[in-house]
Amino acid sequence: MMFEKYNDLTNFNIDLHIHSTFTDGKDSIVDIVKQAEAINLETIAITDHIRENSTYFDEYIQEIIRIRKTTNIKILIGFEARIKNFQGEVDVANEIYAKSDIKIASVHRFTIGKKVYNPDFFPKEIAQEIEFDLSLAALKNINKEFNVLGHPGGMSLRYFNDFPLEYFEEIIIACKENSIAFDLNSHYHRSVYPELIKLLREHNPLISLGSDAHNKLSIGKWRTLLKGEI
Ligand SMILES: [Zn+2]
Ligand SMILES: [Zn+2]
Repeated sequence: MMFEKYNDLTNFNIDLHIHSTFTDGKDSIVDIVKQAEAINLETIAITDHIRENSTYFDEYIQEIIRIRKTTNIKILIGFEARIKNFQGEVDVANEIYAKSDIKIASVHRFTIGKKVYNPDFFPKEIAQEIEFDLSLAALKNINKEFNVLGHPGGMSLRYFNDFPLEYFEEIIIACKENSIAFDLNSHYHRSVYPELIKLLREHNPLISLGSDAHNKLSIGKWRTLLKGEI
């Protein structure tokens, strides 16, 4: 199995959320893999941003397959796509799921009607509710094909440095009920980590450990940031 339950986590030499120059990351996949080797990671996933009309994915797969032959590191093919509406639909073409191992659906900016809004366009409590509703809608969508909920609470944490613990708890329970991995994310979850791990211990969902690295020096960073606390 690709993901372990929180209380069963044993292998921390992984990073399943990394962006490359295929989208907004600063470093190439080759350089990401070199860095992963340098810090003794065993498994990484390249999870670049994708949209329904993205065209780079086959080239990206070919590049990953080529680099796999040059390293002992296990490189998984992944993507991160946004949850686009309150039906919990994800902005990615259907055929991409079958080509990917790590399939992350994340709340990013909010689409309301035809416009896209930054979370801080709304008062804090409303933004938090929108993020919560989008997350739960995706988790409960019966047609979902993703396997990771990306940085839960991340938009509220980024814009307001706050996401209610009861929302985290409901999202964790819904992840568990739907066998979706909770992306424990060193970039977004630093400030809430002590409270968050209590809920993760209690409910014990599947976990995807990720840094959300946009440059190679952030890869695997959660291992040092969160050391001893897991
Ligand atoms: Zn994201
Ligand atoms: Zn990301």
